[in-house]
Amino acid sequence: YNCSMPLDRLSRNIHYLRVSLTDRCNLRCVYCMPEDQTFRPKPELMQDEELLTLIRLCAEMGFDKFRLTGGEPTVRANIVDLVRGIAQTQGVRSLSMTTNGILLNRLAKPLAEAGLQRVNISIDSLDAQKFKRLTRWGSFEDVWEGIKASEEAGLTPIKLNAVVVRGYNEEDVVDLARLTLDHAWQMRFIEMMPFGDVSEFQTTQIVSAEEMRKRISEAIAPLESVDGGKLDGEARLYRLPDSKGDLGFISSVTEPFCASCTRARLTADGRLRMCLLREYELDLLTPLRQGASTDDLKNIISTAVWNKPWGHGLAHNMIPMNRVMSEIGG
Ligand code: SAM
Ligand code: SF4
Repeated sequence: YNCSMPLDRLSRNIHYLRVSLTDRCNLRCVYCMPEDQTFRPKPELMQDEELLTLIRLCAEMGFDKFRLTGGEPTVRANIVDLVRGIAQTQGVRSLSMTTNGILLNRLAKPLAEAGLQRVNISIDSLDAQKFKRLTRWGSFEDVWEGIKASEEAGLTPIKLNAVVVRGYNEEDVVDLARLTLDHAWQMRFIEMMPFGDVSEFQTTQIVSAEEMRKRISEAIAPLESVDGGKLDGEARLYRLPDSKGDLGFISSVTEPFCASCTRARLTADGRLRMCLLREYELDLLTPLRQGASTDDLKNIISTAVWNKPWGHGLAHNMIPMNRVMSEIGG
């Protein structure tokens, strides 16, 4: 097993693993889960040692870029030690986290000291009331303090994520975009994607990236494309004139970027999921618990990578039903 670059059938180099540390969350964002969401019993989730083992195997198979997500990764018990263990794993070159930021005021510094390099923080509105309506349980102040603490802790460059939902925050893209005039942040706007039980809401309330760009240009100034509109990961980058930061648009629904996708996901219950929006998964945790050998587990990883779906099927109304977003991690 010396394949340092796992290729899928379409010769995409799959080297970016997004790891969901828990399906649990301290918020209940309307675009992500119902307020009465139930979670998996803890014994079904990867324990610390199991997680570290699977990450080590993936790193040995050529994955080098890791992002911790959830649910909310910061609510996982022992998160700082876990991050330290992952950061020290051989082959882990890039380690970042996607978080709602609620707990970062307290955790940014210890996480940075443990080896976390960067954070993406979700912030859907600068208006405290709208923020609460979108997240159901969140306090805007907490997130804002979390952003400041992350910057001070050196978890930079800071990227901010906003999912845009019709009837909730489609007008707020303007004020969010303005943040980049004074801050060297990347403000990213995400088209809402449909999943499982909340798919009807998600499909009817979606706002396209094109509409977001139009709103921002009309209210502030025409956008300049960065690098000729080339993709930065999944985001198409633009800037406002004379700004310190960038704007990114993640248009998974209206302008999919599947052909250049390099990622895989490890769910909190230890399944490799090769496309966020396809149900295909291979189980690693059950074989690990049953005593599978390292070679057996690596075989499962290569099989999953080889079979990575070509792309999602939203254009043909194929919506994944087997999980909600918080179980996969976005
Ligand atoms: N709790 C963390 C957070 O909110 O950043 C990490 C997990 S969350 C599932 C990861 C990302 O997915 C967040 O940026 C969130 O806004 C986004 N997200 C959640 N539901 C979505 C949906 N239906 N469509 C598009 N993005 C979504
Ligand atoms: Fe929690 Fe993130 Fe989902 Fe919001 S988007 S409910 S913060 S997991």
